[in-house]
Amino acid sequence: MGTGLGMGSATGAMMGTVMGTVMGTVIFIGAGPGAADLITVRGARWLARAEVVLFDALTDPALRDLAPQARWVDVGKRGFCDSTGQAAIDAMLVRFARAHRVVVRLKGGDPSVFGRLEEELEALAAHGIGCEVVPGVTAAIAAAAAMRRPLTRRGSGRSVSLSTAMTREGPLQGGRSADTEVYYMAGRQLARLARRLLAAGWPADAPVCVVSRAGWPDQVGSDHRLAGLAEAALLHAGRPTVVTVGAGARPVGAGAVSVGDAAPLAERHSATVAAQNQPAFR
Ligand code: SAH
Repeated sequence: MGTGLGMGSATGAMMGTVMGTVMGTVIFIGAGPGAADLITVRGARWLARAEVVLFDALTDPALRDLAPQARWVDVGKRGFCDSTGQAAIDAMLVRFARAHRVVVRLKGGDPSVFGRLEEELEALAAHGIGCEVVPGVTAAIAAAAAMRRPLTRRGSGRSVSLSTAMTREGPLQGGRSADTEVYYMAGRQLARLARRLLAAGWPADAPVCVVSRAGWPDQVGSDHRLAGLAEAALLHAGRPTVVTVGAGARPVGAGAVSVGDAAPLAERHSATVAAQNQPAFR
């Protein structure tokens, strides 16, 4: 079970009939950071075979064109976000997998990164339902691409940490465990995050790069020094945002895409719609 490589094998191994019910396979697909064209070819191929697609918020409606034959079920609405909601999603996955051969669970970014994949895998395993995980472009990577900031740097950036700034219990998290730290779910509390990071030993002038809606045509990126991170709040308000701190946030040569490149980094926090310089593939 689950040893198949490639598309055919997972369904081949898992489809079957158990006591009159169809035993389908659940395919977890990372949709990428939002825009439909950032899904993988493998993800798109599975979508073309899906009978049901359970999808989250933050995914491009244009993804529907990849599975017009499927029933699309929105599980990303408010109310599905709490633990009761998660249990409801788990139960739906099991129910659909018993009635359909290919059930797609479409998640924003990569399913393995802050995507509640563990709970859903456990629910399927408990019912003996097979699955496959198709990776996607996680927001940290999309942000690095948007700003042309390599996340690793030879000599100075050897480790990268992905963290959530939010936890259900306890205070906002922020630390210094890697040369580059990327914070998800931090958009609403940039000032607090900056204080935490300063307390964790980051210098006040550490470079910080904030990117919202990375990978979308309206992506916005801004550069800051850690001490001035709070300035980014208005610019990215209400948008999915990742914050990159340290080596991977440093602009590379003329690769810095912020408006006002001539200004020193500290003053450079104005918006850049990086997509303006990029060809549209959509
Ligand atoms: N599984 C997703 C993360 C889900 S958690 C992934 O791999 O990307 C949701 C958080 O991800 C948001 O609060 C935000 O911090 C980040 N995020 C998701 N899409 C984003 C995007 N297009 N641009 C910037 N941040 C994004």
